[in-house]
Amino acid sequence: YHAKATSGAVASYAPAMSARMRDWLELEGRLRKAVHNDLLSLVFQPKFRIKDRKLVGVEALLRWRDAEFGDISPNRFVEIAEDSGLILDMSGWVVRAVCRQLRKWLDRGIVLPVAINCSGKELLHGDPAKVVEAEARAANVPPSLIEIELTESLLIKDSATVQSALKRLRQLGCRIALDDFGTGYSSLAYITRFPPDRIKIDKAFVRDIENSAGDAAVASAILSLAHSLNLVVTAEGVERQGQLDWLLARGCHEVQGFLLAKPLSVADLEARFFSTANEAAPEPQQLLTRA
Ligand code: C2E
Ligand code: MG
Ligand code: MG
Ligand code: MG
Repeated sequence: YHAKATSGAVASYAPAMSARMRDWLELEGRLRKAVHNDLLSLVFQPKFRIKDRKLVGVEALLRWRDAEFGDISPNRFVEIAEDSGLILDMSGWVVRAVCRQLRKWLDRGIVLPVAINCSGKELLHGDPAKVVEAEARAANVPPSLIEIELTESLLIKDSATVQSALKRLRQLGCRIALDDFGTGYSSLAYITRFPPDRIKIDKAFVRDIENSAGDAAVASAILSLAHSLNLVVTAEGVERQGQLDWLLARGCHEVQGFLLAKPLSVADLEARFFSTANEAAPEPQQLLTRA
């Protein structure tokens, strides 16, 4: 009985694994082509200052639509890119695209800081400061308009390589944000060793913030830590007014989420915030620029 059950389990397990592997290899090949043939795109999700809902910046988020597989989530293809070594080419593409976009906005008098997500592999194996410096120079934009969002899981490694990569980014003038804050292990210890400019409360804690005592406790602890270290806090994934009210009452500075704005194409972003035809939209000069 025992042997039969085991062999049955193995027999149904093995083909499933190889189908996943085939999919992965197929996607990896397609992603490689997409990166090298300019088939990726960016959307930009606004960040707002909570007290007056002013636009303070945007986060660049990668999009990939494959002809056959359709839209593929960045959570999935970023992992493929990391495992296949494509990540450095892919992030180079992102930095270049962001710098070109910044240039276009500056040409119209729009000063809008852009945050770029940075994978752990990039910090460990690449040279993000060199890439940002080269692309910012090529597009003639100040690196101070670029913020780098790091996912803290990689920071656990806390290697000398990571430290020096961050230091060089900061010397260039880039801001550093810790993304998905609260979900990692060594976040508390880490932020005293390499204080970021901003921390982003992970949307997992925001989802049920008004109702879950546990989530509220985590978010409150992050906020009080940030206040005492003088860090800007952005809450991610704000979808309801109740969440916004909770965060405002407790001194959260900025919010991002579907309630106020989804990730937008450049055209939609400009139509909503920078269109002269739209009386309700803020004028570019009303944008907050950071000191
Ligand atoms: P992230 O940096 O934490 O980005 C926030 C994610 O939450 C985005 O998903 C965004 O679309 C989504 N989001 C924003 N507001 C809401 C909301 O109110 N509710 C909900 N449920 N979700 C919301 P997206 O675009 O699918 O990106 C997923 C992750 O992929 C990002 O998480 C980031 O870690 C990674 N990623 C995206 N673009 C890049 C990139 O250019 N480079 C790298 N290395 N990673 C990227
Ligand atoms: Mg992010
Ligand atoms: Mg996040
Ligand atoms: Mg994330």
